Amino acid sequence: MSHFAYRGNKLFAEDVALDRLAAEFGTPTYVYSSASLIENFSSYAAACSKHGRSENDALVCYSVKSNSNLAVLSLLGKQGSGFDIVSGGELLRVLAAGGDPSKVIFSGVGKSRDEMRLALTHDILCFNVESIPELHRLNEVAAEMHKQAPVSLRVNPDVDAKTHPYISTGLKDNKFGIAFSEAIETYKVAHNLKNLRVVGIDCHIGSQLLDDAPLLEALDKVIELVDELHQAGIELHHLDIGGGIGITYDDEKPVKVGDYLSRLFTRIDAWRAEKYQGKPITVLFEPGRSIVGNAGVLLTEIQYLKHGATKNFAVVDAAMNDLMRPAMYEAWHGVQPVLQRDIAGQTYDVVGPVCESGDWLARERALAIEQGDLLAIMSAGAYGMTMASNYNTRGRAAEVLIDGDKIMLVRKREMPADLFALESIPD
Ligand SMILES: *Cc1c(COP(=O)(O)O)cnc(C)c1O
Repeated sequence: MSHFAYRGNKLFAEDVALDRLAAEFGTPTYVYSSASLIENFSSYAAACSKHGRSENDALVCYSVKSNSNLAVLSLLGKQGSGFDIVSGGELLRVLAAGGDPSKVIFSGVGKSRDEMRLALTHDILCFNVESIPELHRLNEVAAEMHKQAPVSLRVNPDVDAKTHPYISTGLKDNKFGIAFSEAIETYKVAHNLKNLRVVGIDCHIGSQLLDDAPLLEALDKVIELVDELHQAGIELHHLDIGGGIGITYDDEKPVKVGDYLSRLFTRIDAWRAEKYQGKPITVLFEPGRSIVGNAGVLLTEIQYLKHGATKNFAVVDAAMNDLMRPAMYEAWHGVQPVLQRDIAGQTYDVVGPVCESGDWLARERALAIEQGDLLAIMSAGAYGMTMASNYNTRGRAAEVLIDGDKIMLVRKREMPADLFALESIPD
């Protein structure tokens, strides 16, 4: 069920009409639904418990980069979520939101010494390491701190996620992960470094996957490696299958999280029964988009309707700096008028005020709209605000979280003076 739906001719977020939010907080504004976040998280948690996994044998580590607002992190943390971070900054966000560092895993190809130190200070669950030089650096930093760093290797299973090239990460020629053929040797290096403790294996093959076949194929390859490592005397405590489940933007029919997890756990249980006398292995997930993507919209106001020689444009006050996905991936987002009007529609490109031809949010949409109307850009909860920039000295949008009829401003709109506050003019 969508928590963004019309009541009469008006679009609501849960029990709050979107025009009320525009009046109160202005536009552009990101609006998130608590009920939707909780439902999406629960689809993972419920599938884990259905397959007999407690929080110790299965952990959902929400991918912070998809939406890192403190209120979102706090809400998910209270549901029991762990966190997948890709920077020290994200760790500080998780801590500020009251997240539990012992449920944090640290991904990314370029961890700095400072970031490693910060994560070791807070005793995170695991570092997902992506190269041999990173293993050596982490070992050195851990030694300086008289600690042992828990590590997983992110392996590259070389399966085709069949998604957009920019969001596919599991192919051979990708910058991510350790090549499958070099995984065992790399594990041996890690195993022999004194200040590392090998605890797991990790992969993440891409994003917006509609089918779970590539994920299950990746699982099979990971299982092969776990068996080989076992033979080499290296026992792993967990297996992390990454994130990547897609959502419906338009008419996509993504696999249901519950169905995917059922297939995955069934496969894992059969394998453990066959080879390890049923001894369980902890399973980690790193979902982002499937938890927040459809839990948010970007609310924007039409500034002008412009009727060009060959095209009509709805010029809105949100732009590529607020929602980068169309400009970056030619991504498709639904566009819904907040007020449904009983007038003839026309075909519009919905564009922002930024001085770039790439600054569009939607193309060729039939819309019955007037100047001054509000539009909701749908499915904007993931990789929306987190990818926003200040290009054109535009302050980033406000963010509002709705819970039933409760309205919470969870990030104030940035003001122009905020944007140059750190700058100075030399005498
Ligand atoms: C971005 C990312 C995720 C989340 O991907 P989604 O497609 O949003 O689920 C998970 N793991 C890693 C390593 C990532 O980089």
